Amino acid sequence: MNPSFEALARQLADVGRHCYERGWALGTSGNFSAVVRKEPLTLAITTSGVDKGLLESSHIVEIDARGRVLQGSGTPSAEATLHLAIVRARGAGAVLHTHSIWSTILSDAATDGGVTIEGYEMLKGLGGVRTHEHRERLPVIENTQDWTAAAPEIETMLRKHPEAHGFLIRRHGLYTWGKDLAEAKRHIEILEFLFEAMGRKRGLAWQP
Ligand SMILES: [Zn+2]
Repeated sequence: MNPSFEALARQLADVGRHCYERGWALGTSGNFSAVVRKEPLTLAITTSGVDKGLLESSHIVEIDARGRVLQGSGTPSAEATLHLAIVRARGAGAVLHTHSIWSTILSDAATDGGVTIEGYEMLKGLGGVRTHEHRERLPVIENTQDWTAAAPEIETMLRKHPEAHGFLIRRHGLYTWGKDLAEAKRHIEILEFLFEAMGRKRGLAWQP
């Protein structure tokens, strides 16, 4: 049986505070969601404007597939349409979005539409990856303030890159997901580790 909305709200609040503590979602940045029900689709998702260091389960609402609030109070994240697009395109059980320093720098430095990571042992923390020889390609998309308009384009991009475990938004941050919240959290940790390792290794040469 799937966890209840209340249980997922508590788990999302824990994950959000963890990301804040690691410096990946400072201030009100970042947003986090998990699927409550698949049919009809509903999501537990963070509300906008909440300091992630103070995130509690009362800051999580349940929304339907059109982003309407079914349970809880507050306005769902402005990027809720993006979370829904990722769940539809990937069949994800949870979607996590951070605004870390290294994802911001690497997204800015990518000149060929994506960031490629290969040869690192930590890649094996990504779902389905068995060897450090794996080549992970994360698409980089341009930033916008209108994710409702951009969501169909993102869904198309995700279907075009079925092997990607995440994507970056330029000068903005990382989106990743997993079959459940535990896997999505692991993907955040693995990808943030790899971004920092790559960023530190390349230093100023990596800058655009
Ligand atoms: Zn964001």
